[in-house]
Amino acid sequence: QKFVYDFTEGNKDLKDLLGGKGANLAEMTNLGLPVPPGFTITTEACKVYLDSGEEPAALRDEVSAHLDALENKMGKTLGQPDDPLLVSVRSGAKFSMPGMMDTVLNIGLSDDSVAGLAAQAGDERFAWDSYRRLIQMFGKTVLGVDGDLFEEALEEAKRAKGVTVDVDLDAGDLKRLVTEFKDIVANETGRGFPQEPREQMDLAVRAVFDSWNGDRAKLYRRQERIPHDLGTAVNICSMVFGNLGPDSGTGVAFTRDPASGQQGVYGDYLQNAQGEDVVAGIRNTVPLADLEQIDKGSYDELMRIMEILETHYRDLCDIEFTIERSKLWMLQTRVGKRTAGAAFRIATQLVDQGLIDEAEALRRVNGAQLAQLMFPRFDEEAAENGTVRKLGRGIAASPGAAVGKAVFDSYTAVKWSRSGEKVILIRRETNPDDLDGMIAAEGILTSRGGKTSHAAVVARGMGKTCVCGAEELEVDTKRRRMTVPALDGKDGLVIEEGDVVSIDGSTGKVYLGKVPVVPSPVVEYFEGRMHAGADDADELVGAVHRIMAYADRVRRLRVRANADNAEDANRARRFGAQGIGLCRTEHMFLGERRELVERLILAHTDEERETALGALLPLQKDDFVELFESMDGLPVTVRLLDPPLHEFLPDITELSVRVALAESRKDHNENDLRLLQAVHRLHEQNPMLGLRGVRLGLVIPGLFAMQVRAIAEAAAERRNAKGDPRAEIMIPLVGTVQELEIVREEAEQVIEEVQRARGVDLKLTLGTMIELPRAALTAGQIAESADFFSFGTNDLTQTVWGFSRDDVEASFFTAYLEKGIFGVSPFETIDKDGVGSLVRSAAEAGRATRPDLKLGVCGEHGGDPESVHFFHEVGLDYVSCSPFRIPVARLEAGRAAA
Ligand code: PEP
Ligand code: MG
Repeated sequence: QKFVYDFTEGNKDLKDLLGGKGANLAEMTNLGLPVPPGFTITTEACKVYLDSGEEPAALRDEVSAHLDALENKMGKTLGQPDDPLLVSVRSGAKFSMPGMMDTVLNIGLSDDSVAGLAAQAGDERFAWDSYRRLIQMFGKTVLGVDGDLFEEALEEAKRAKGVTVDVDLDAGDLKRLVTEFKDIVANETGRGFPQEPREQMDLAVRAVFDSWNGDRAKLYRRQERIPHDLGTAVNICSMVFGNLGPDSGTGVAFTRDPASGQQGVYGDYLQNAQGEDVVAGIRNTVPLADLEQIDKGSYDELMRIMEILETHYRDLCDIEFTIERSKLWMLQTRVGKRTAGAAFRIATQLVDQGLIDEAEALRRVNGAQLAQLMFPRFDEEAAENGTVRKLGRGIAASPGAAVGKAVFDSYTAVKWSRSGEKVILIRRETNPDDLDGMIAAEGILTSRGGKTSHAAVVARGMGKTCVCGAEELEVDTKRRRMTVPALDGKDGLVIEEGDVVSIDGSTGKVYLGKVPVVPSPVVEYFEGRMHAGADDADELVGAVHRIMAYADRVRRLRVRANADNAEDANRARRFGAQGIGLCRTEHMFLGERRELVERLILAHTDEERETALGALLPLQKDDFVELFESMDGLPVTVRLLDPPLHEFLPDITELSVRVALAESRKDHNENDLRLLQAVHRLHEQNPMLGLRGVRLGLVIPGLFAMQVRAIAEAAAERRNAKGDPRAEIMIPLVGTVQELEIVREEAEQVIEEVQRARGVDLKLTLGTMIELPRAALTAGQIAESADFFSFGTNDLTQTVWGFSRDDVEASFFTAYLEKGIFGVSPFETIDKDGVGSLVRSAAEAGRATRPDLKLGVCGEHGGDPESVHFFHEVGLDYVSCSPFRIPVARLEAGRAAA
């Protein structure tokens, strides 16, 4: 096994082995681009180290051989006193984990070689600056010394000299600083800063390996669902210097704008600096375009290389480069991150440039990005026009636009939200104790912490708007206020509890006051209120329009809606639904109609019951006529009544009190008494496992027959009106084929009667939900009596895991997510191994019995991107989801097939 690869030996497809950075450095090297020579230690070596606590035995010799080769190529040896070869040691995992792991520059400098470097560079200040950087970075990341100690010493040196920026420290100052830094290392670690270059390098490599299991890295991986066992590669690269004077510098660049996708010159450049200065924001960078004036030769070459890279990678690339005395060096490239809108634009732009095909364009975007583009957003114009004041900007941690009253503790958040107030929970940072408040709040704002802070992680998990790390805001939870510094010529101010603030989780901006919200242009487009030209790749809706067309062309899964009223059905149709996959009829019995259901439940005699049913029939029929009309020509799956009956009866405690009070007044109310008896009779400890679904239909005579009659009559009426109703009747919560057979027989009789009376063939089909483990396990038998299956993955998840779907997400799921037991709630993304395997086997068994069995899913998972791919894979015919998720499901169904 080979543990070390020269940059000339790898390529961009070896990310598993060489990490993203190493694979791309190799790719650039082989493209003939100017990459400083170096080599990569593989992730395999890291894995061996992490498993056993020791580097693989062969590693040391392999590294020596590669180091020799590098030294030969460069004509100097690592740390050579008169002319030292210096190297950087940089981590690089398969997936980019920004800022999560470690980098050390200038390895090879020592008390001896610093003079050699000074002589070679003809610049003493540069040499001492490089050395102090090495001790600082090495001390912090390899030796674990508190980085603040170095920072403080540096600040003190500047203060003593009366300067504000590092470059104003001269060689003498830096030499003194090196002595101080070495003292800090000695004091903190009990040993001197290692002078032996190879020891420096080996320790740094080991530190990079160790950083894979640092807390930050682990949390980040959990959040981003990156497996924990990949390990990181380590890149050892000969140093080039951006801090050799005004003809040197360092920068970052994008081949096109990661925010809009527009082609052009995007990036930042910092003269006379090393890489970490840019990130640390120590001095102000200049726009990349200015480089043309500063160093035209390097600028032109950079432009040429960017074009090569974009054509080669066929995608937006981001780049890190350094210029050493007017010579350009490429230090890194990768396919760059981008905003959701840019992803759509870039994908269509690249199709137009002939760089990728439509299938590839589909793979370049995803449903989560589309969902993000569908959030309502703040009206930026109104926000900037001074009606509200911008307070600051943090990290856009979880998208959305939230407005509410500022509260500074969880207790108040819960209390105020209970009384109907919308609140924004503001904390320095959150911890698990804040969970109640986070749930109650419209959005969360913190002044500390990054994208992987507790607030950000939990908010994203809950789909709640969050801005974190808004550092200019000073949060004082004790005094329930937040101080805002003077900004843009405006005075500072204090935000008190109760002041209205607006936070934008997509931009990170924070405002005082209520920013007006506007619908997303993408939703306006789906609603048909905005039209897109198909050739308009640069406009967001144009790009979305085209990508959706690609998706619709290739997808095999059909997409239906969960809808039980005409408004939802109409919207669903505009959003591209190909029918209704679930109409929950219990939603039609709420409000004023509840009393009618109450009467049905309380009926003592057949006559009373029939009267109650008779009152419900015309109402139900009218509901269905509306639905069939809005979905004319498309299938509509109507599910017969499902919820526990007690949901239609008064609260047991309230009613008991009322009856007791009446009794004490000798005020006998027969109705209330009967009601109370019924409530007692129907009370269940576990209503979710009780009298619901098909069980209700079997226990209350005439209930399902009434619903079936309403469906059949509605269909007949639509037929008469020259419509094309395509009703499908669905029986919920079936556990055995016998239940289905009984209901089916009764339903067929009713349908037959209606057909005879109306003189039409209604072509109604009758199927069942598969939402209990027993139904899934006996799907082969159940299919004997079903025309279709619709997987109810909500109940199936509940019953397979034994998780109460109404309780667990608020009670212990956060702990489960934090412990990494699952990366996402199984109620959100299908649990492929458990629930999913039942879906797969039930689908197979059902089709074995009845090859033309239609298969769909109508649980929440029908609109979840990852789950949609799974349902595609197991061969379902359709997914059904809430109207707003239909575009996402269409897109993901297309991506699954592309
Ligand atoms: C299900 O259980 O997945 C389902 C769609 O039915 P409901 O959510 O109404 O129980
Ligand atoms: Mg269900």
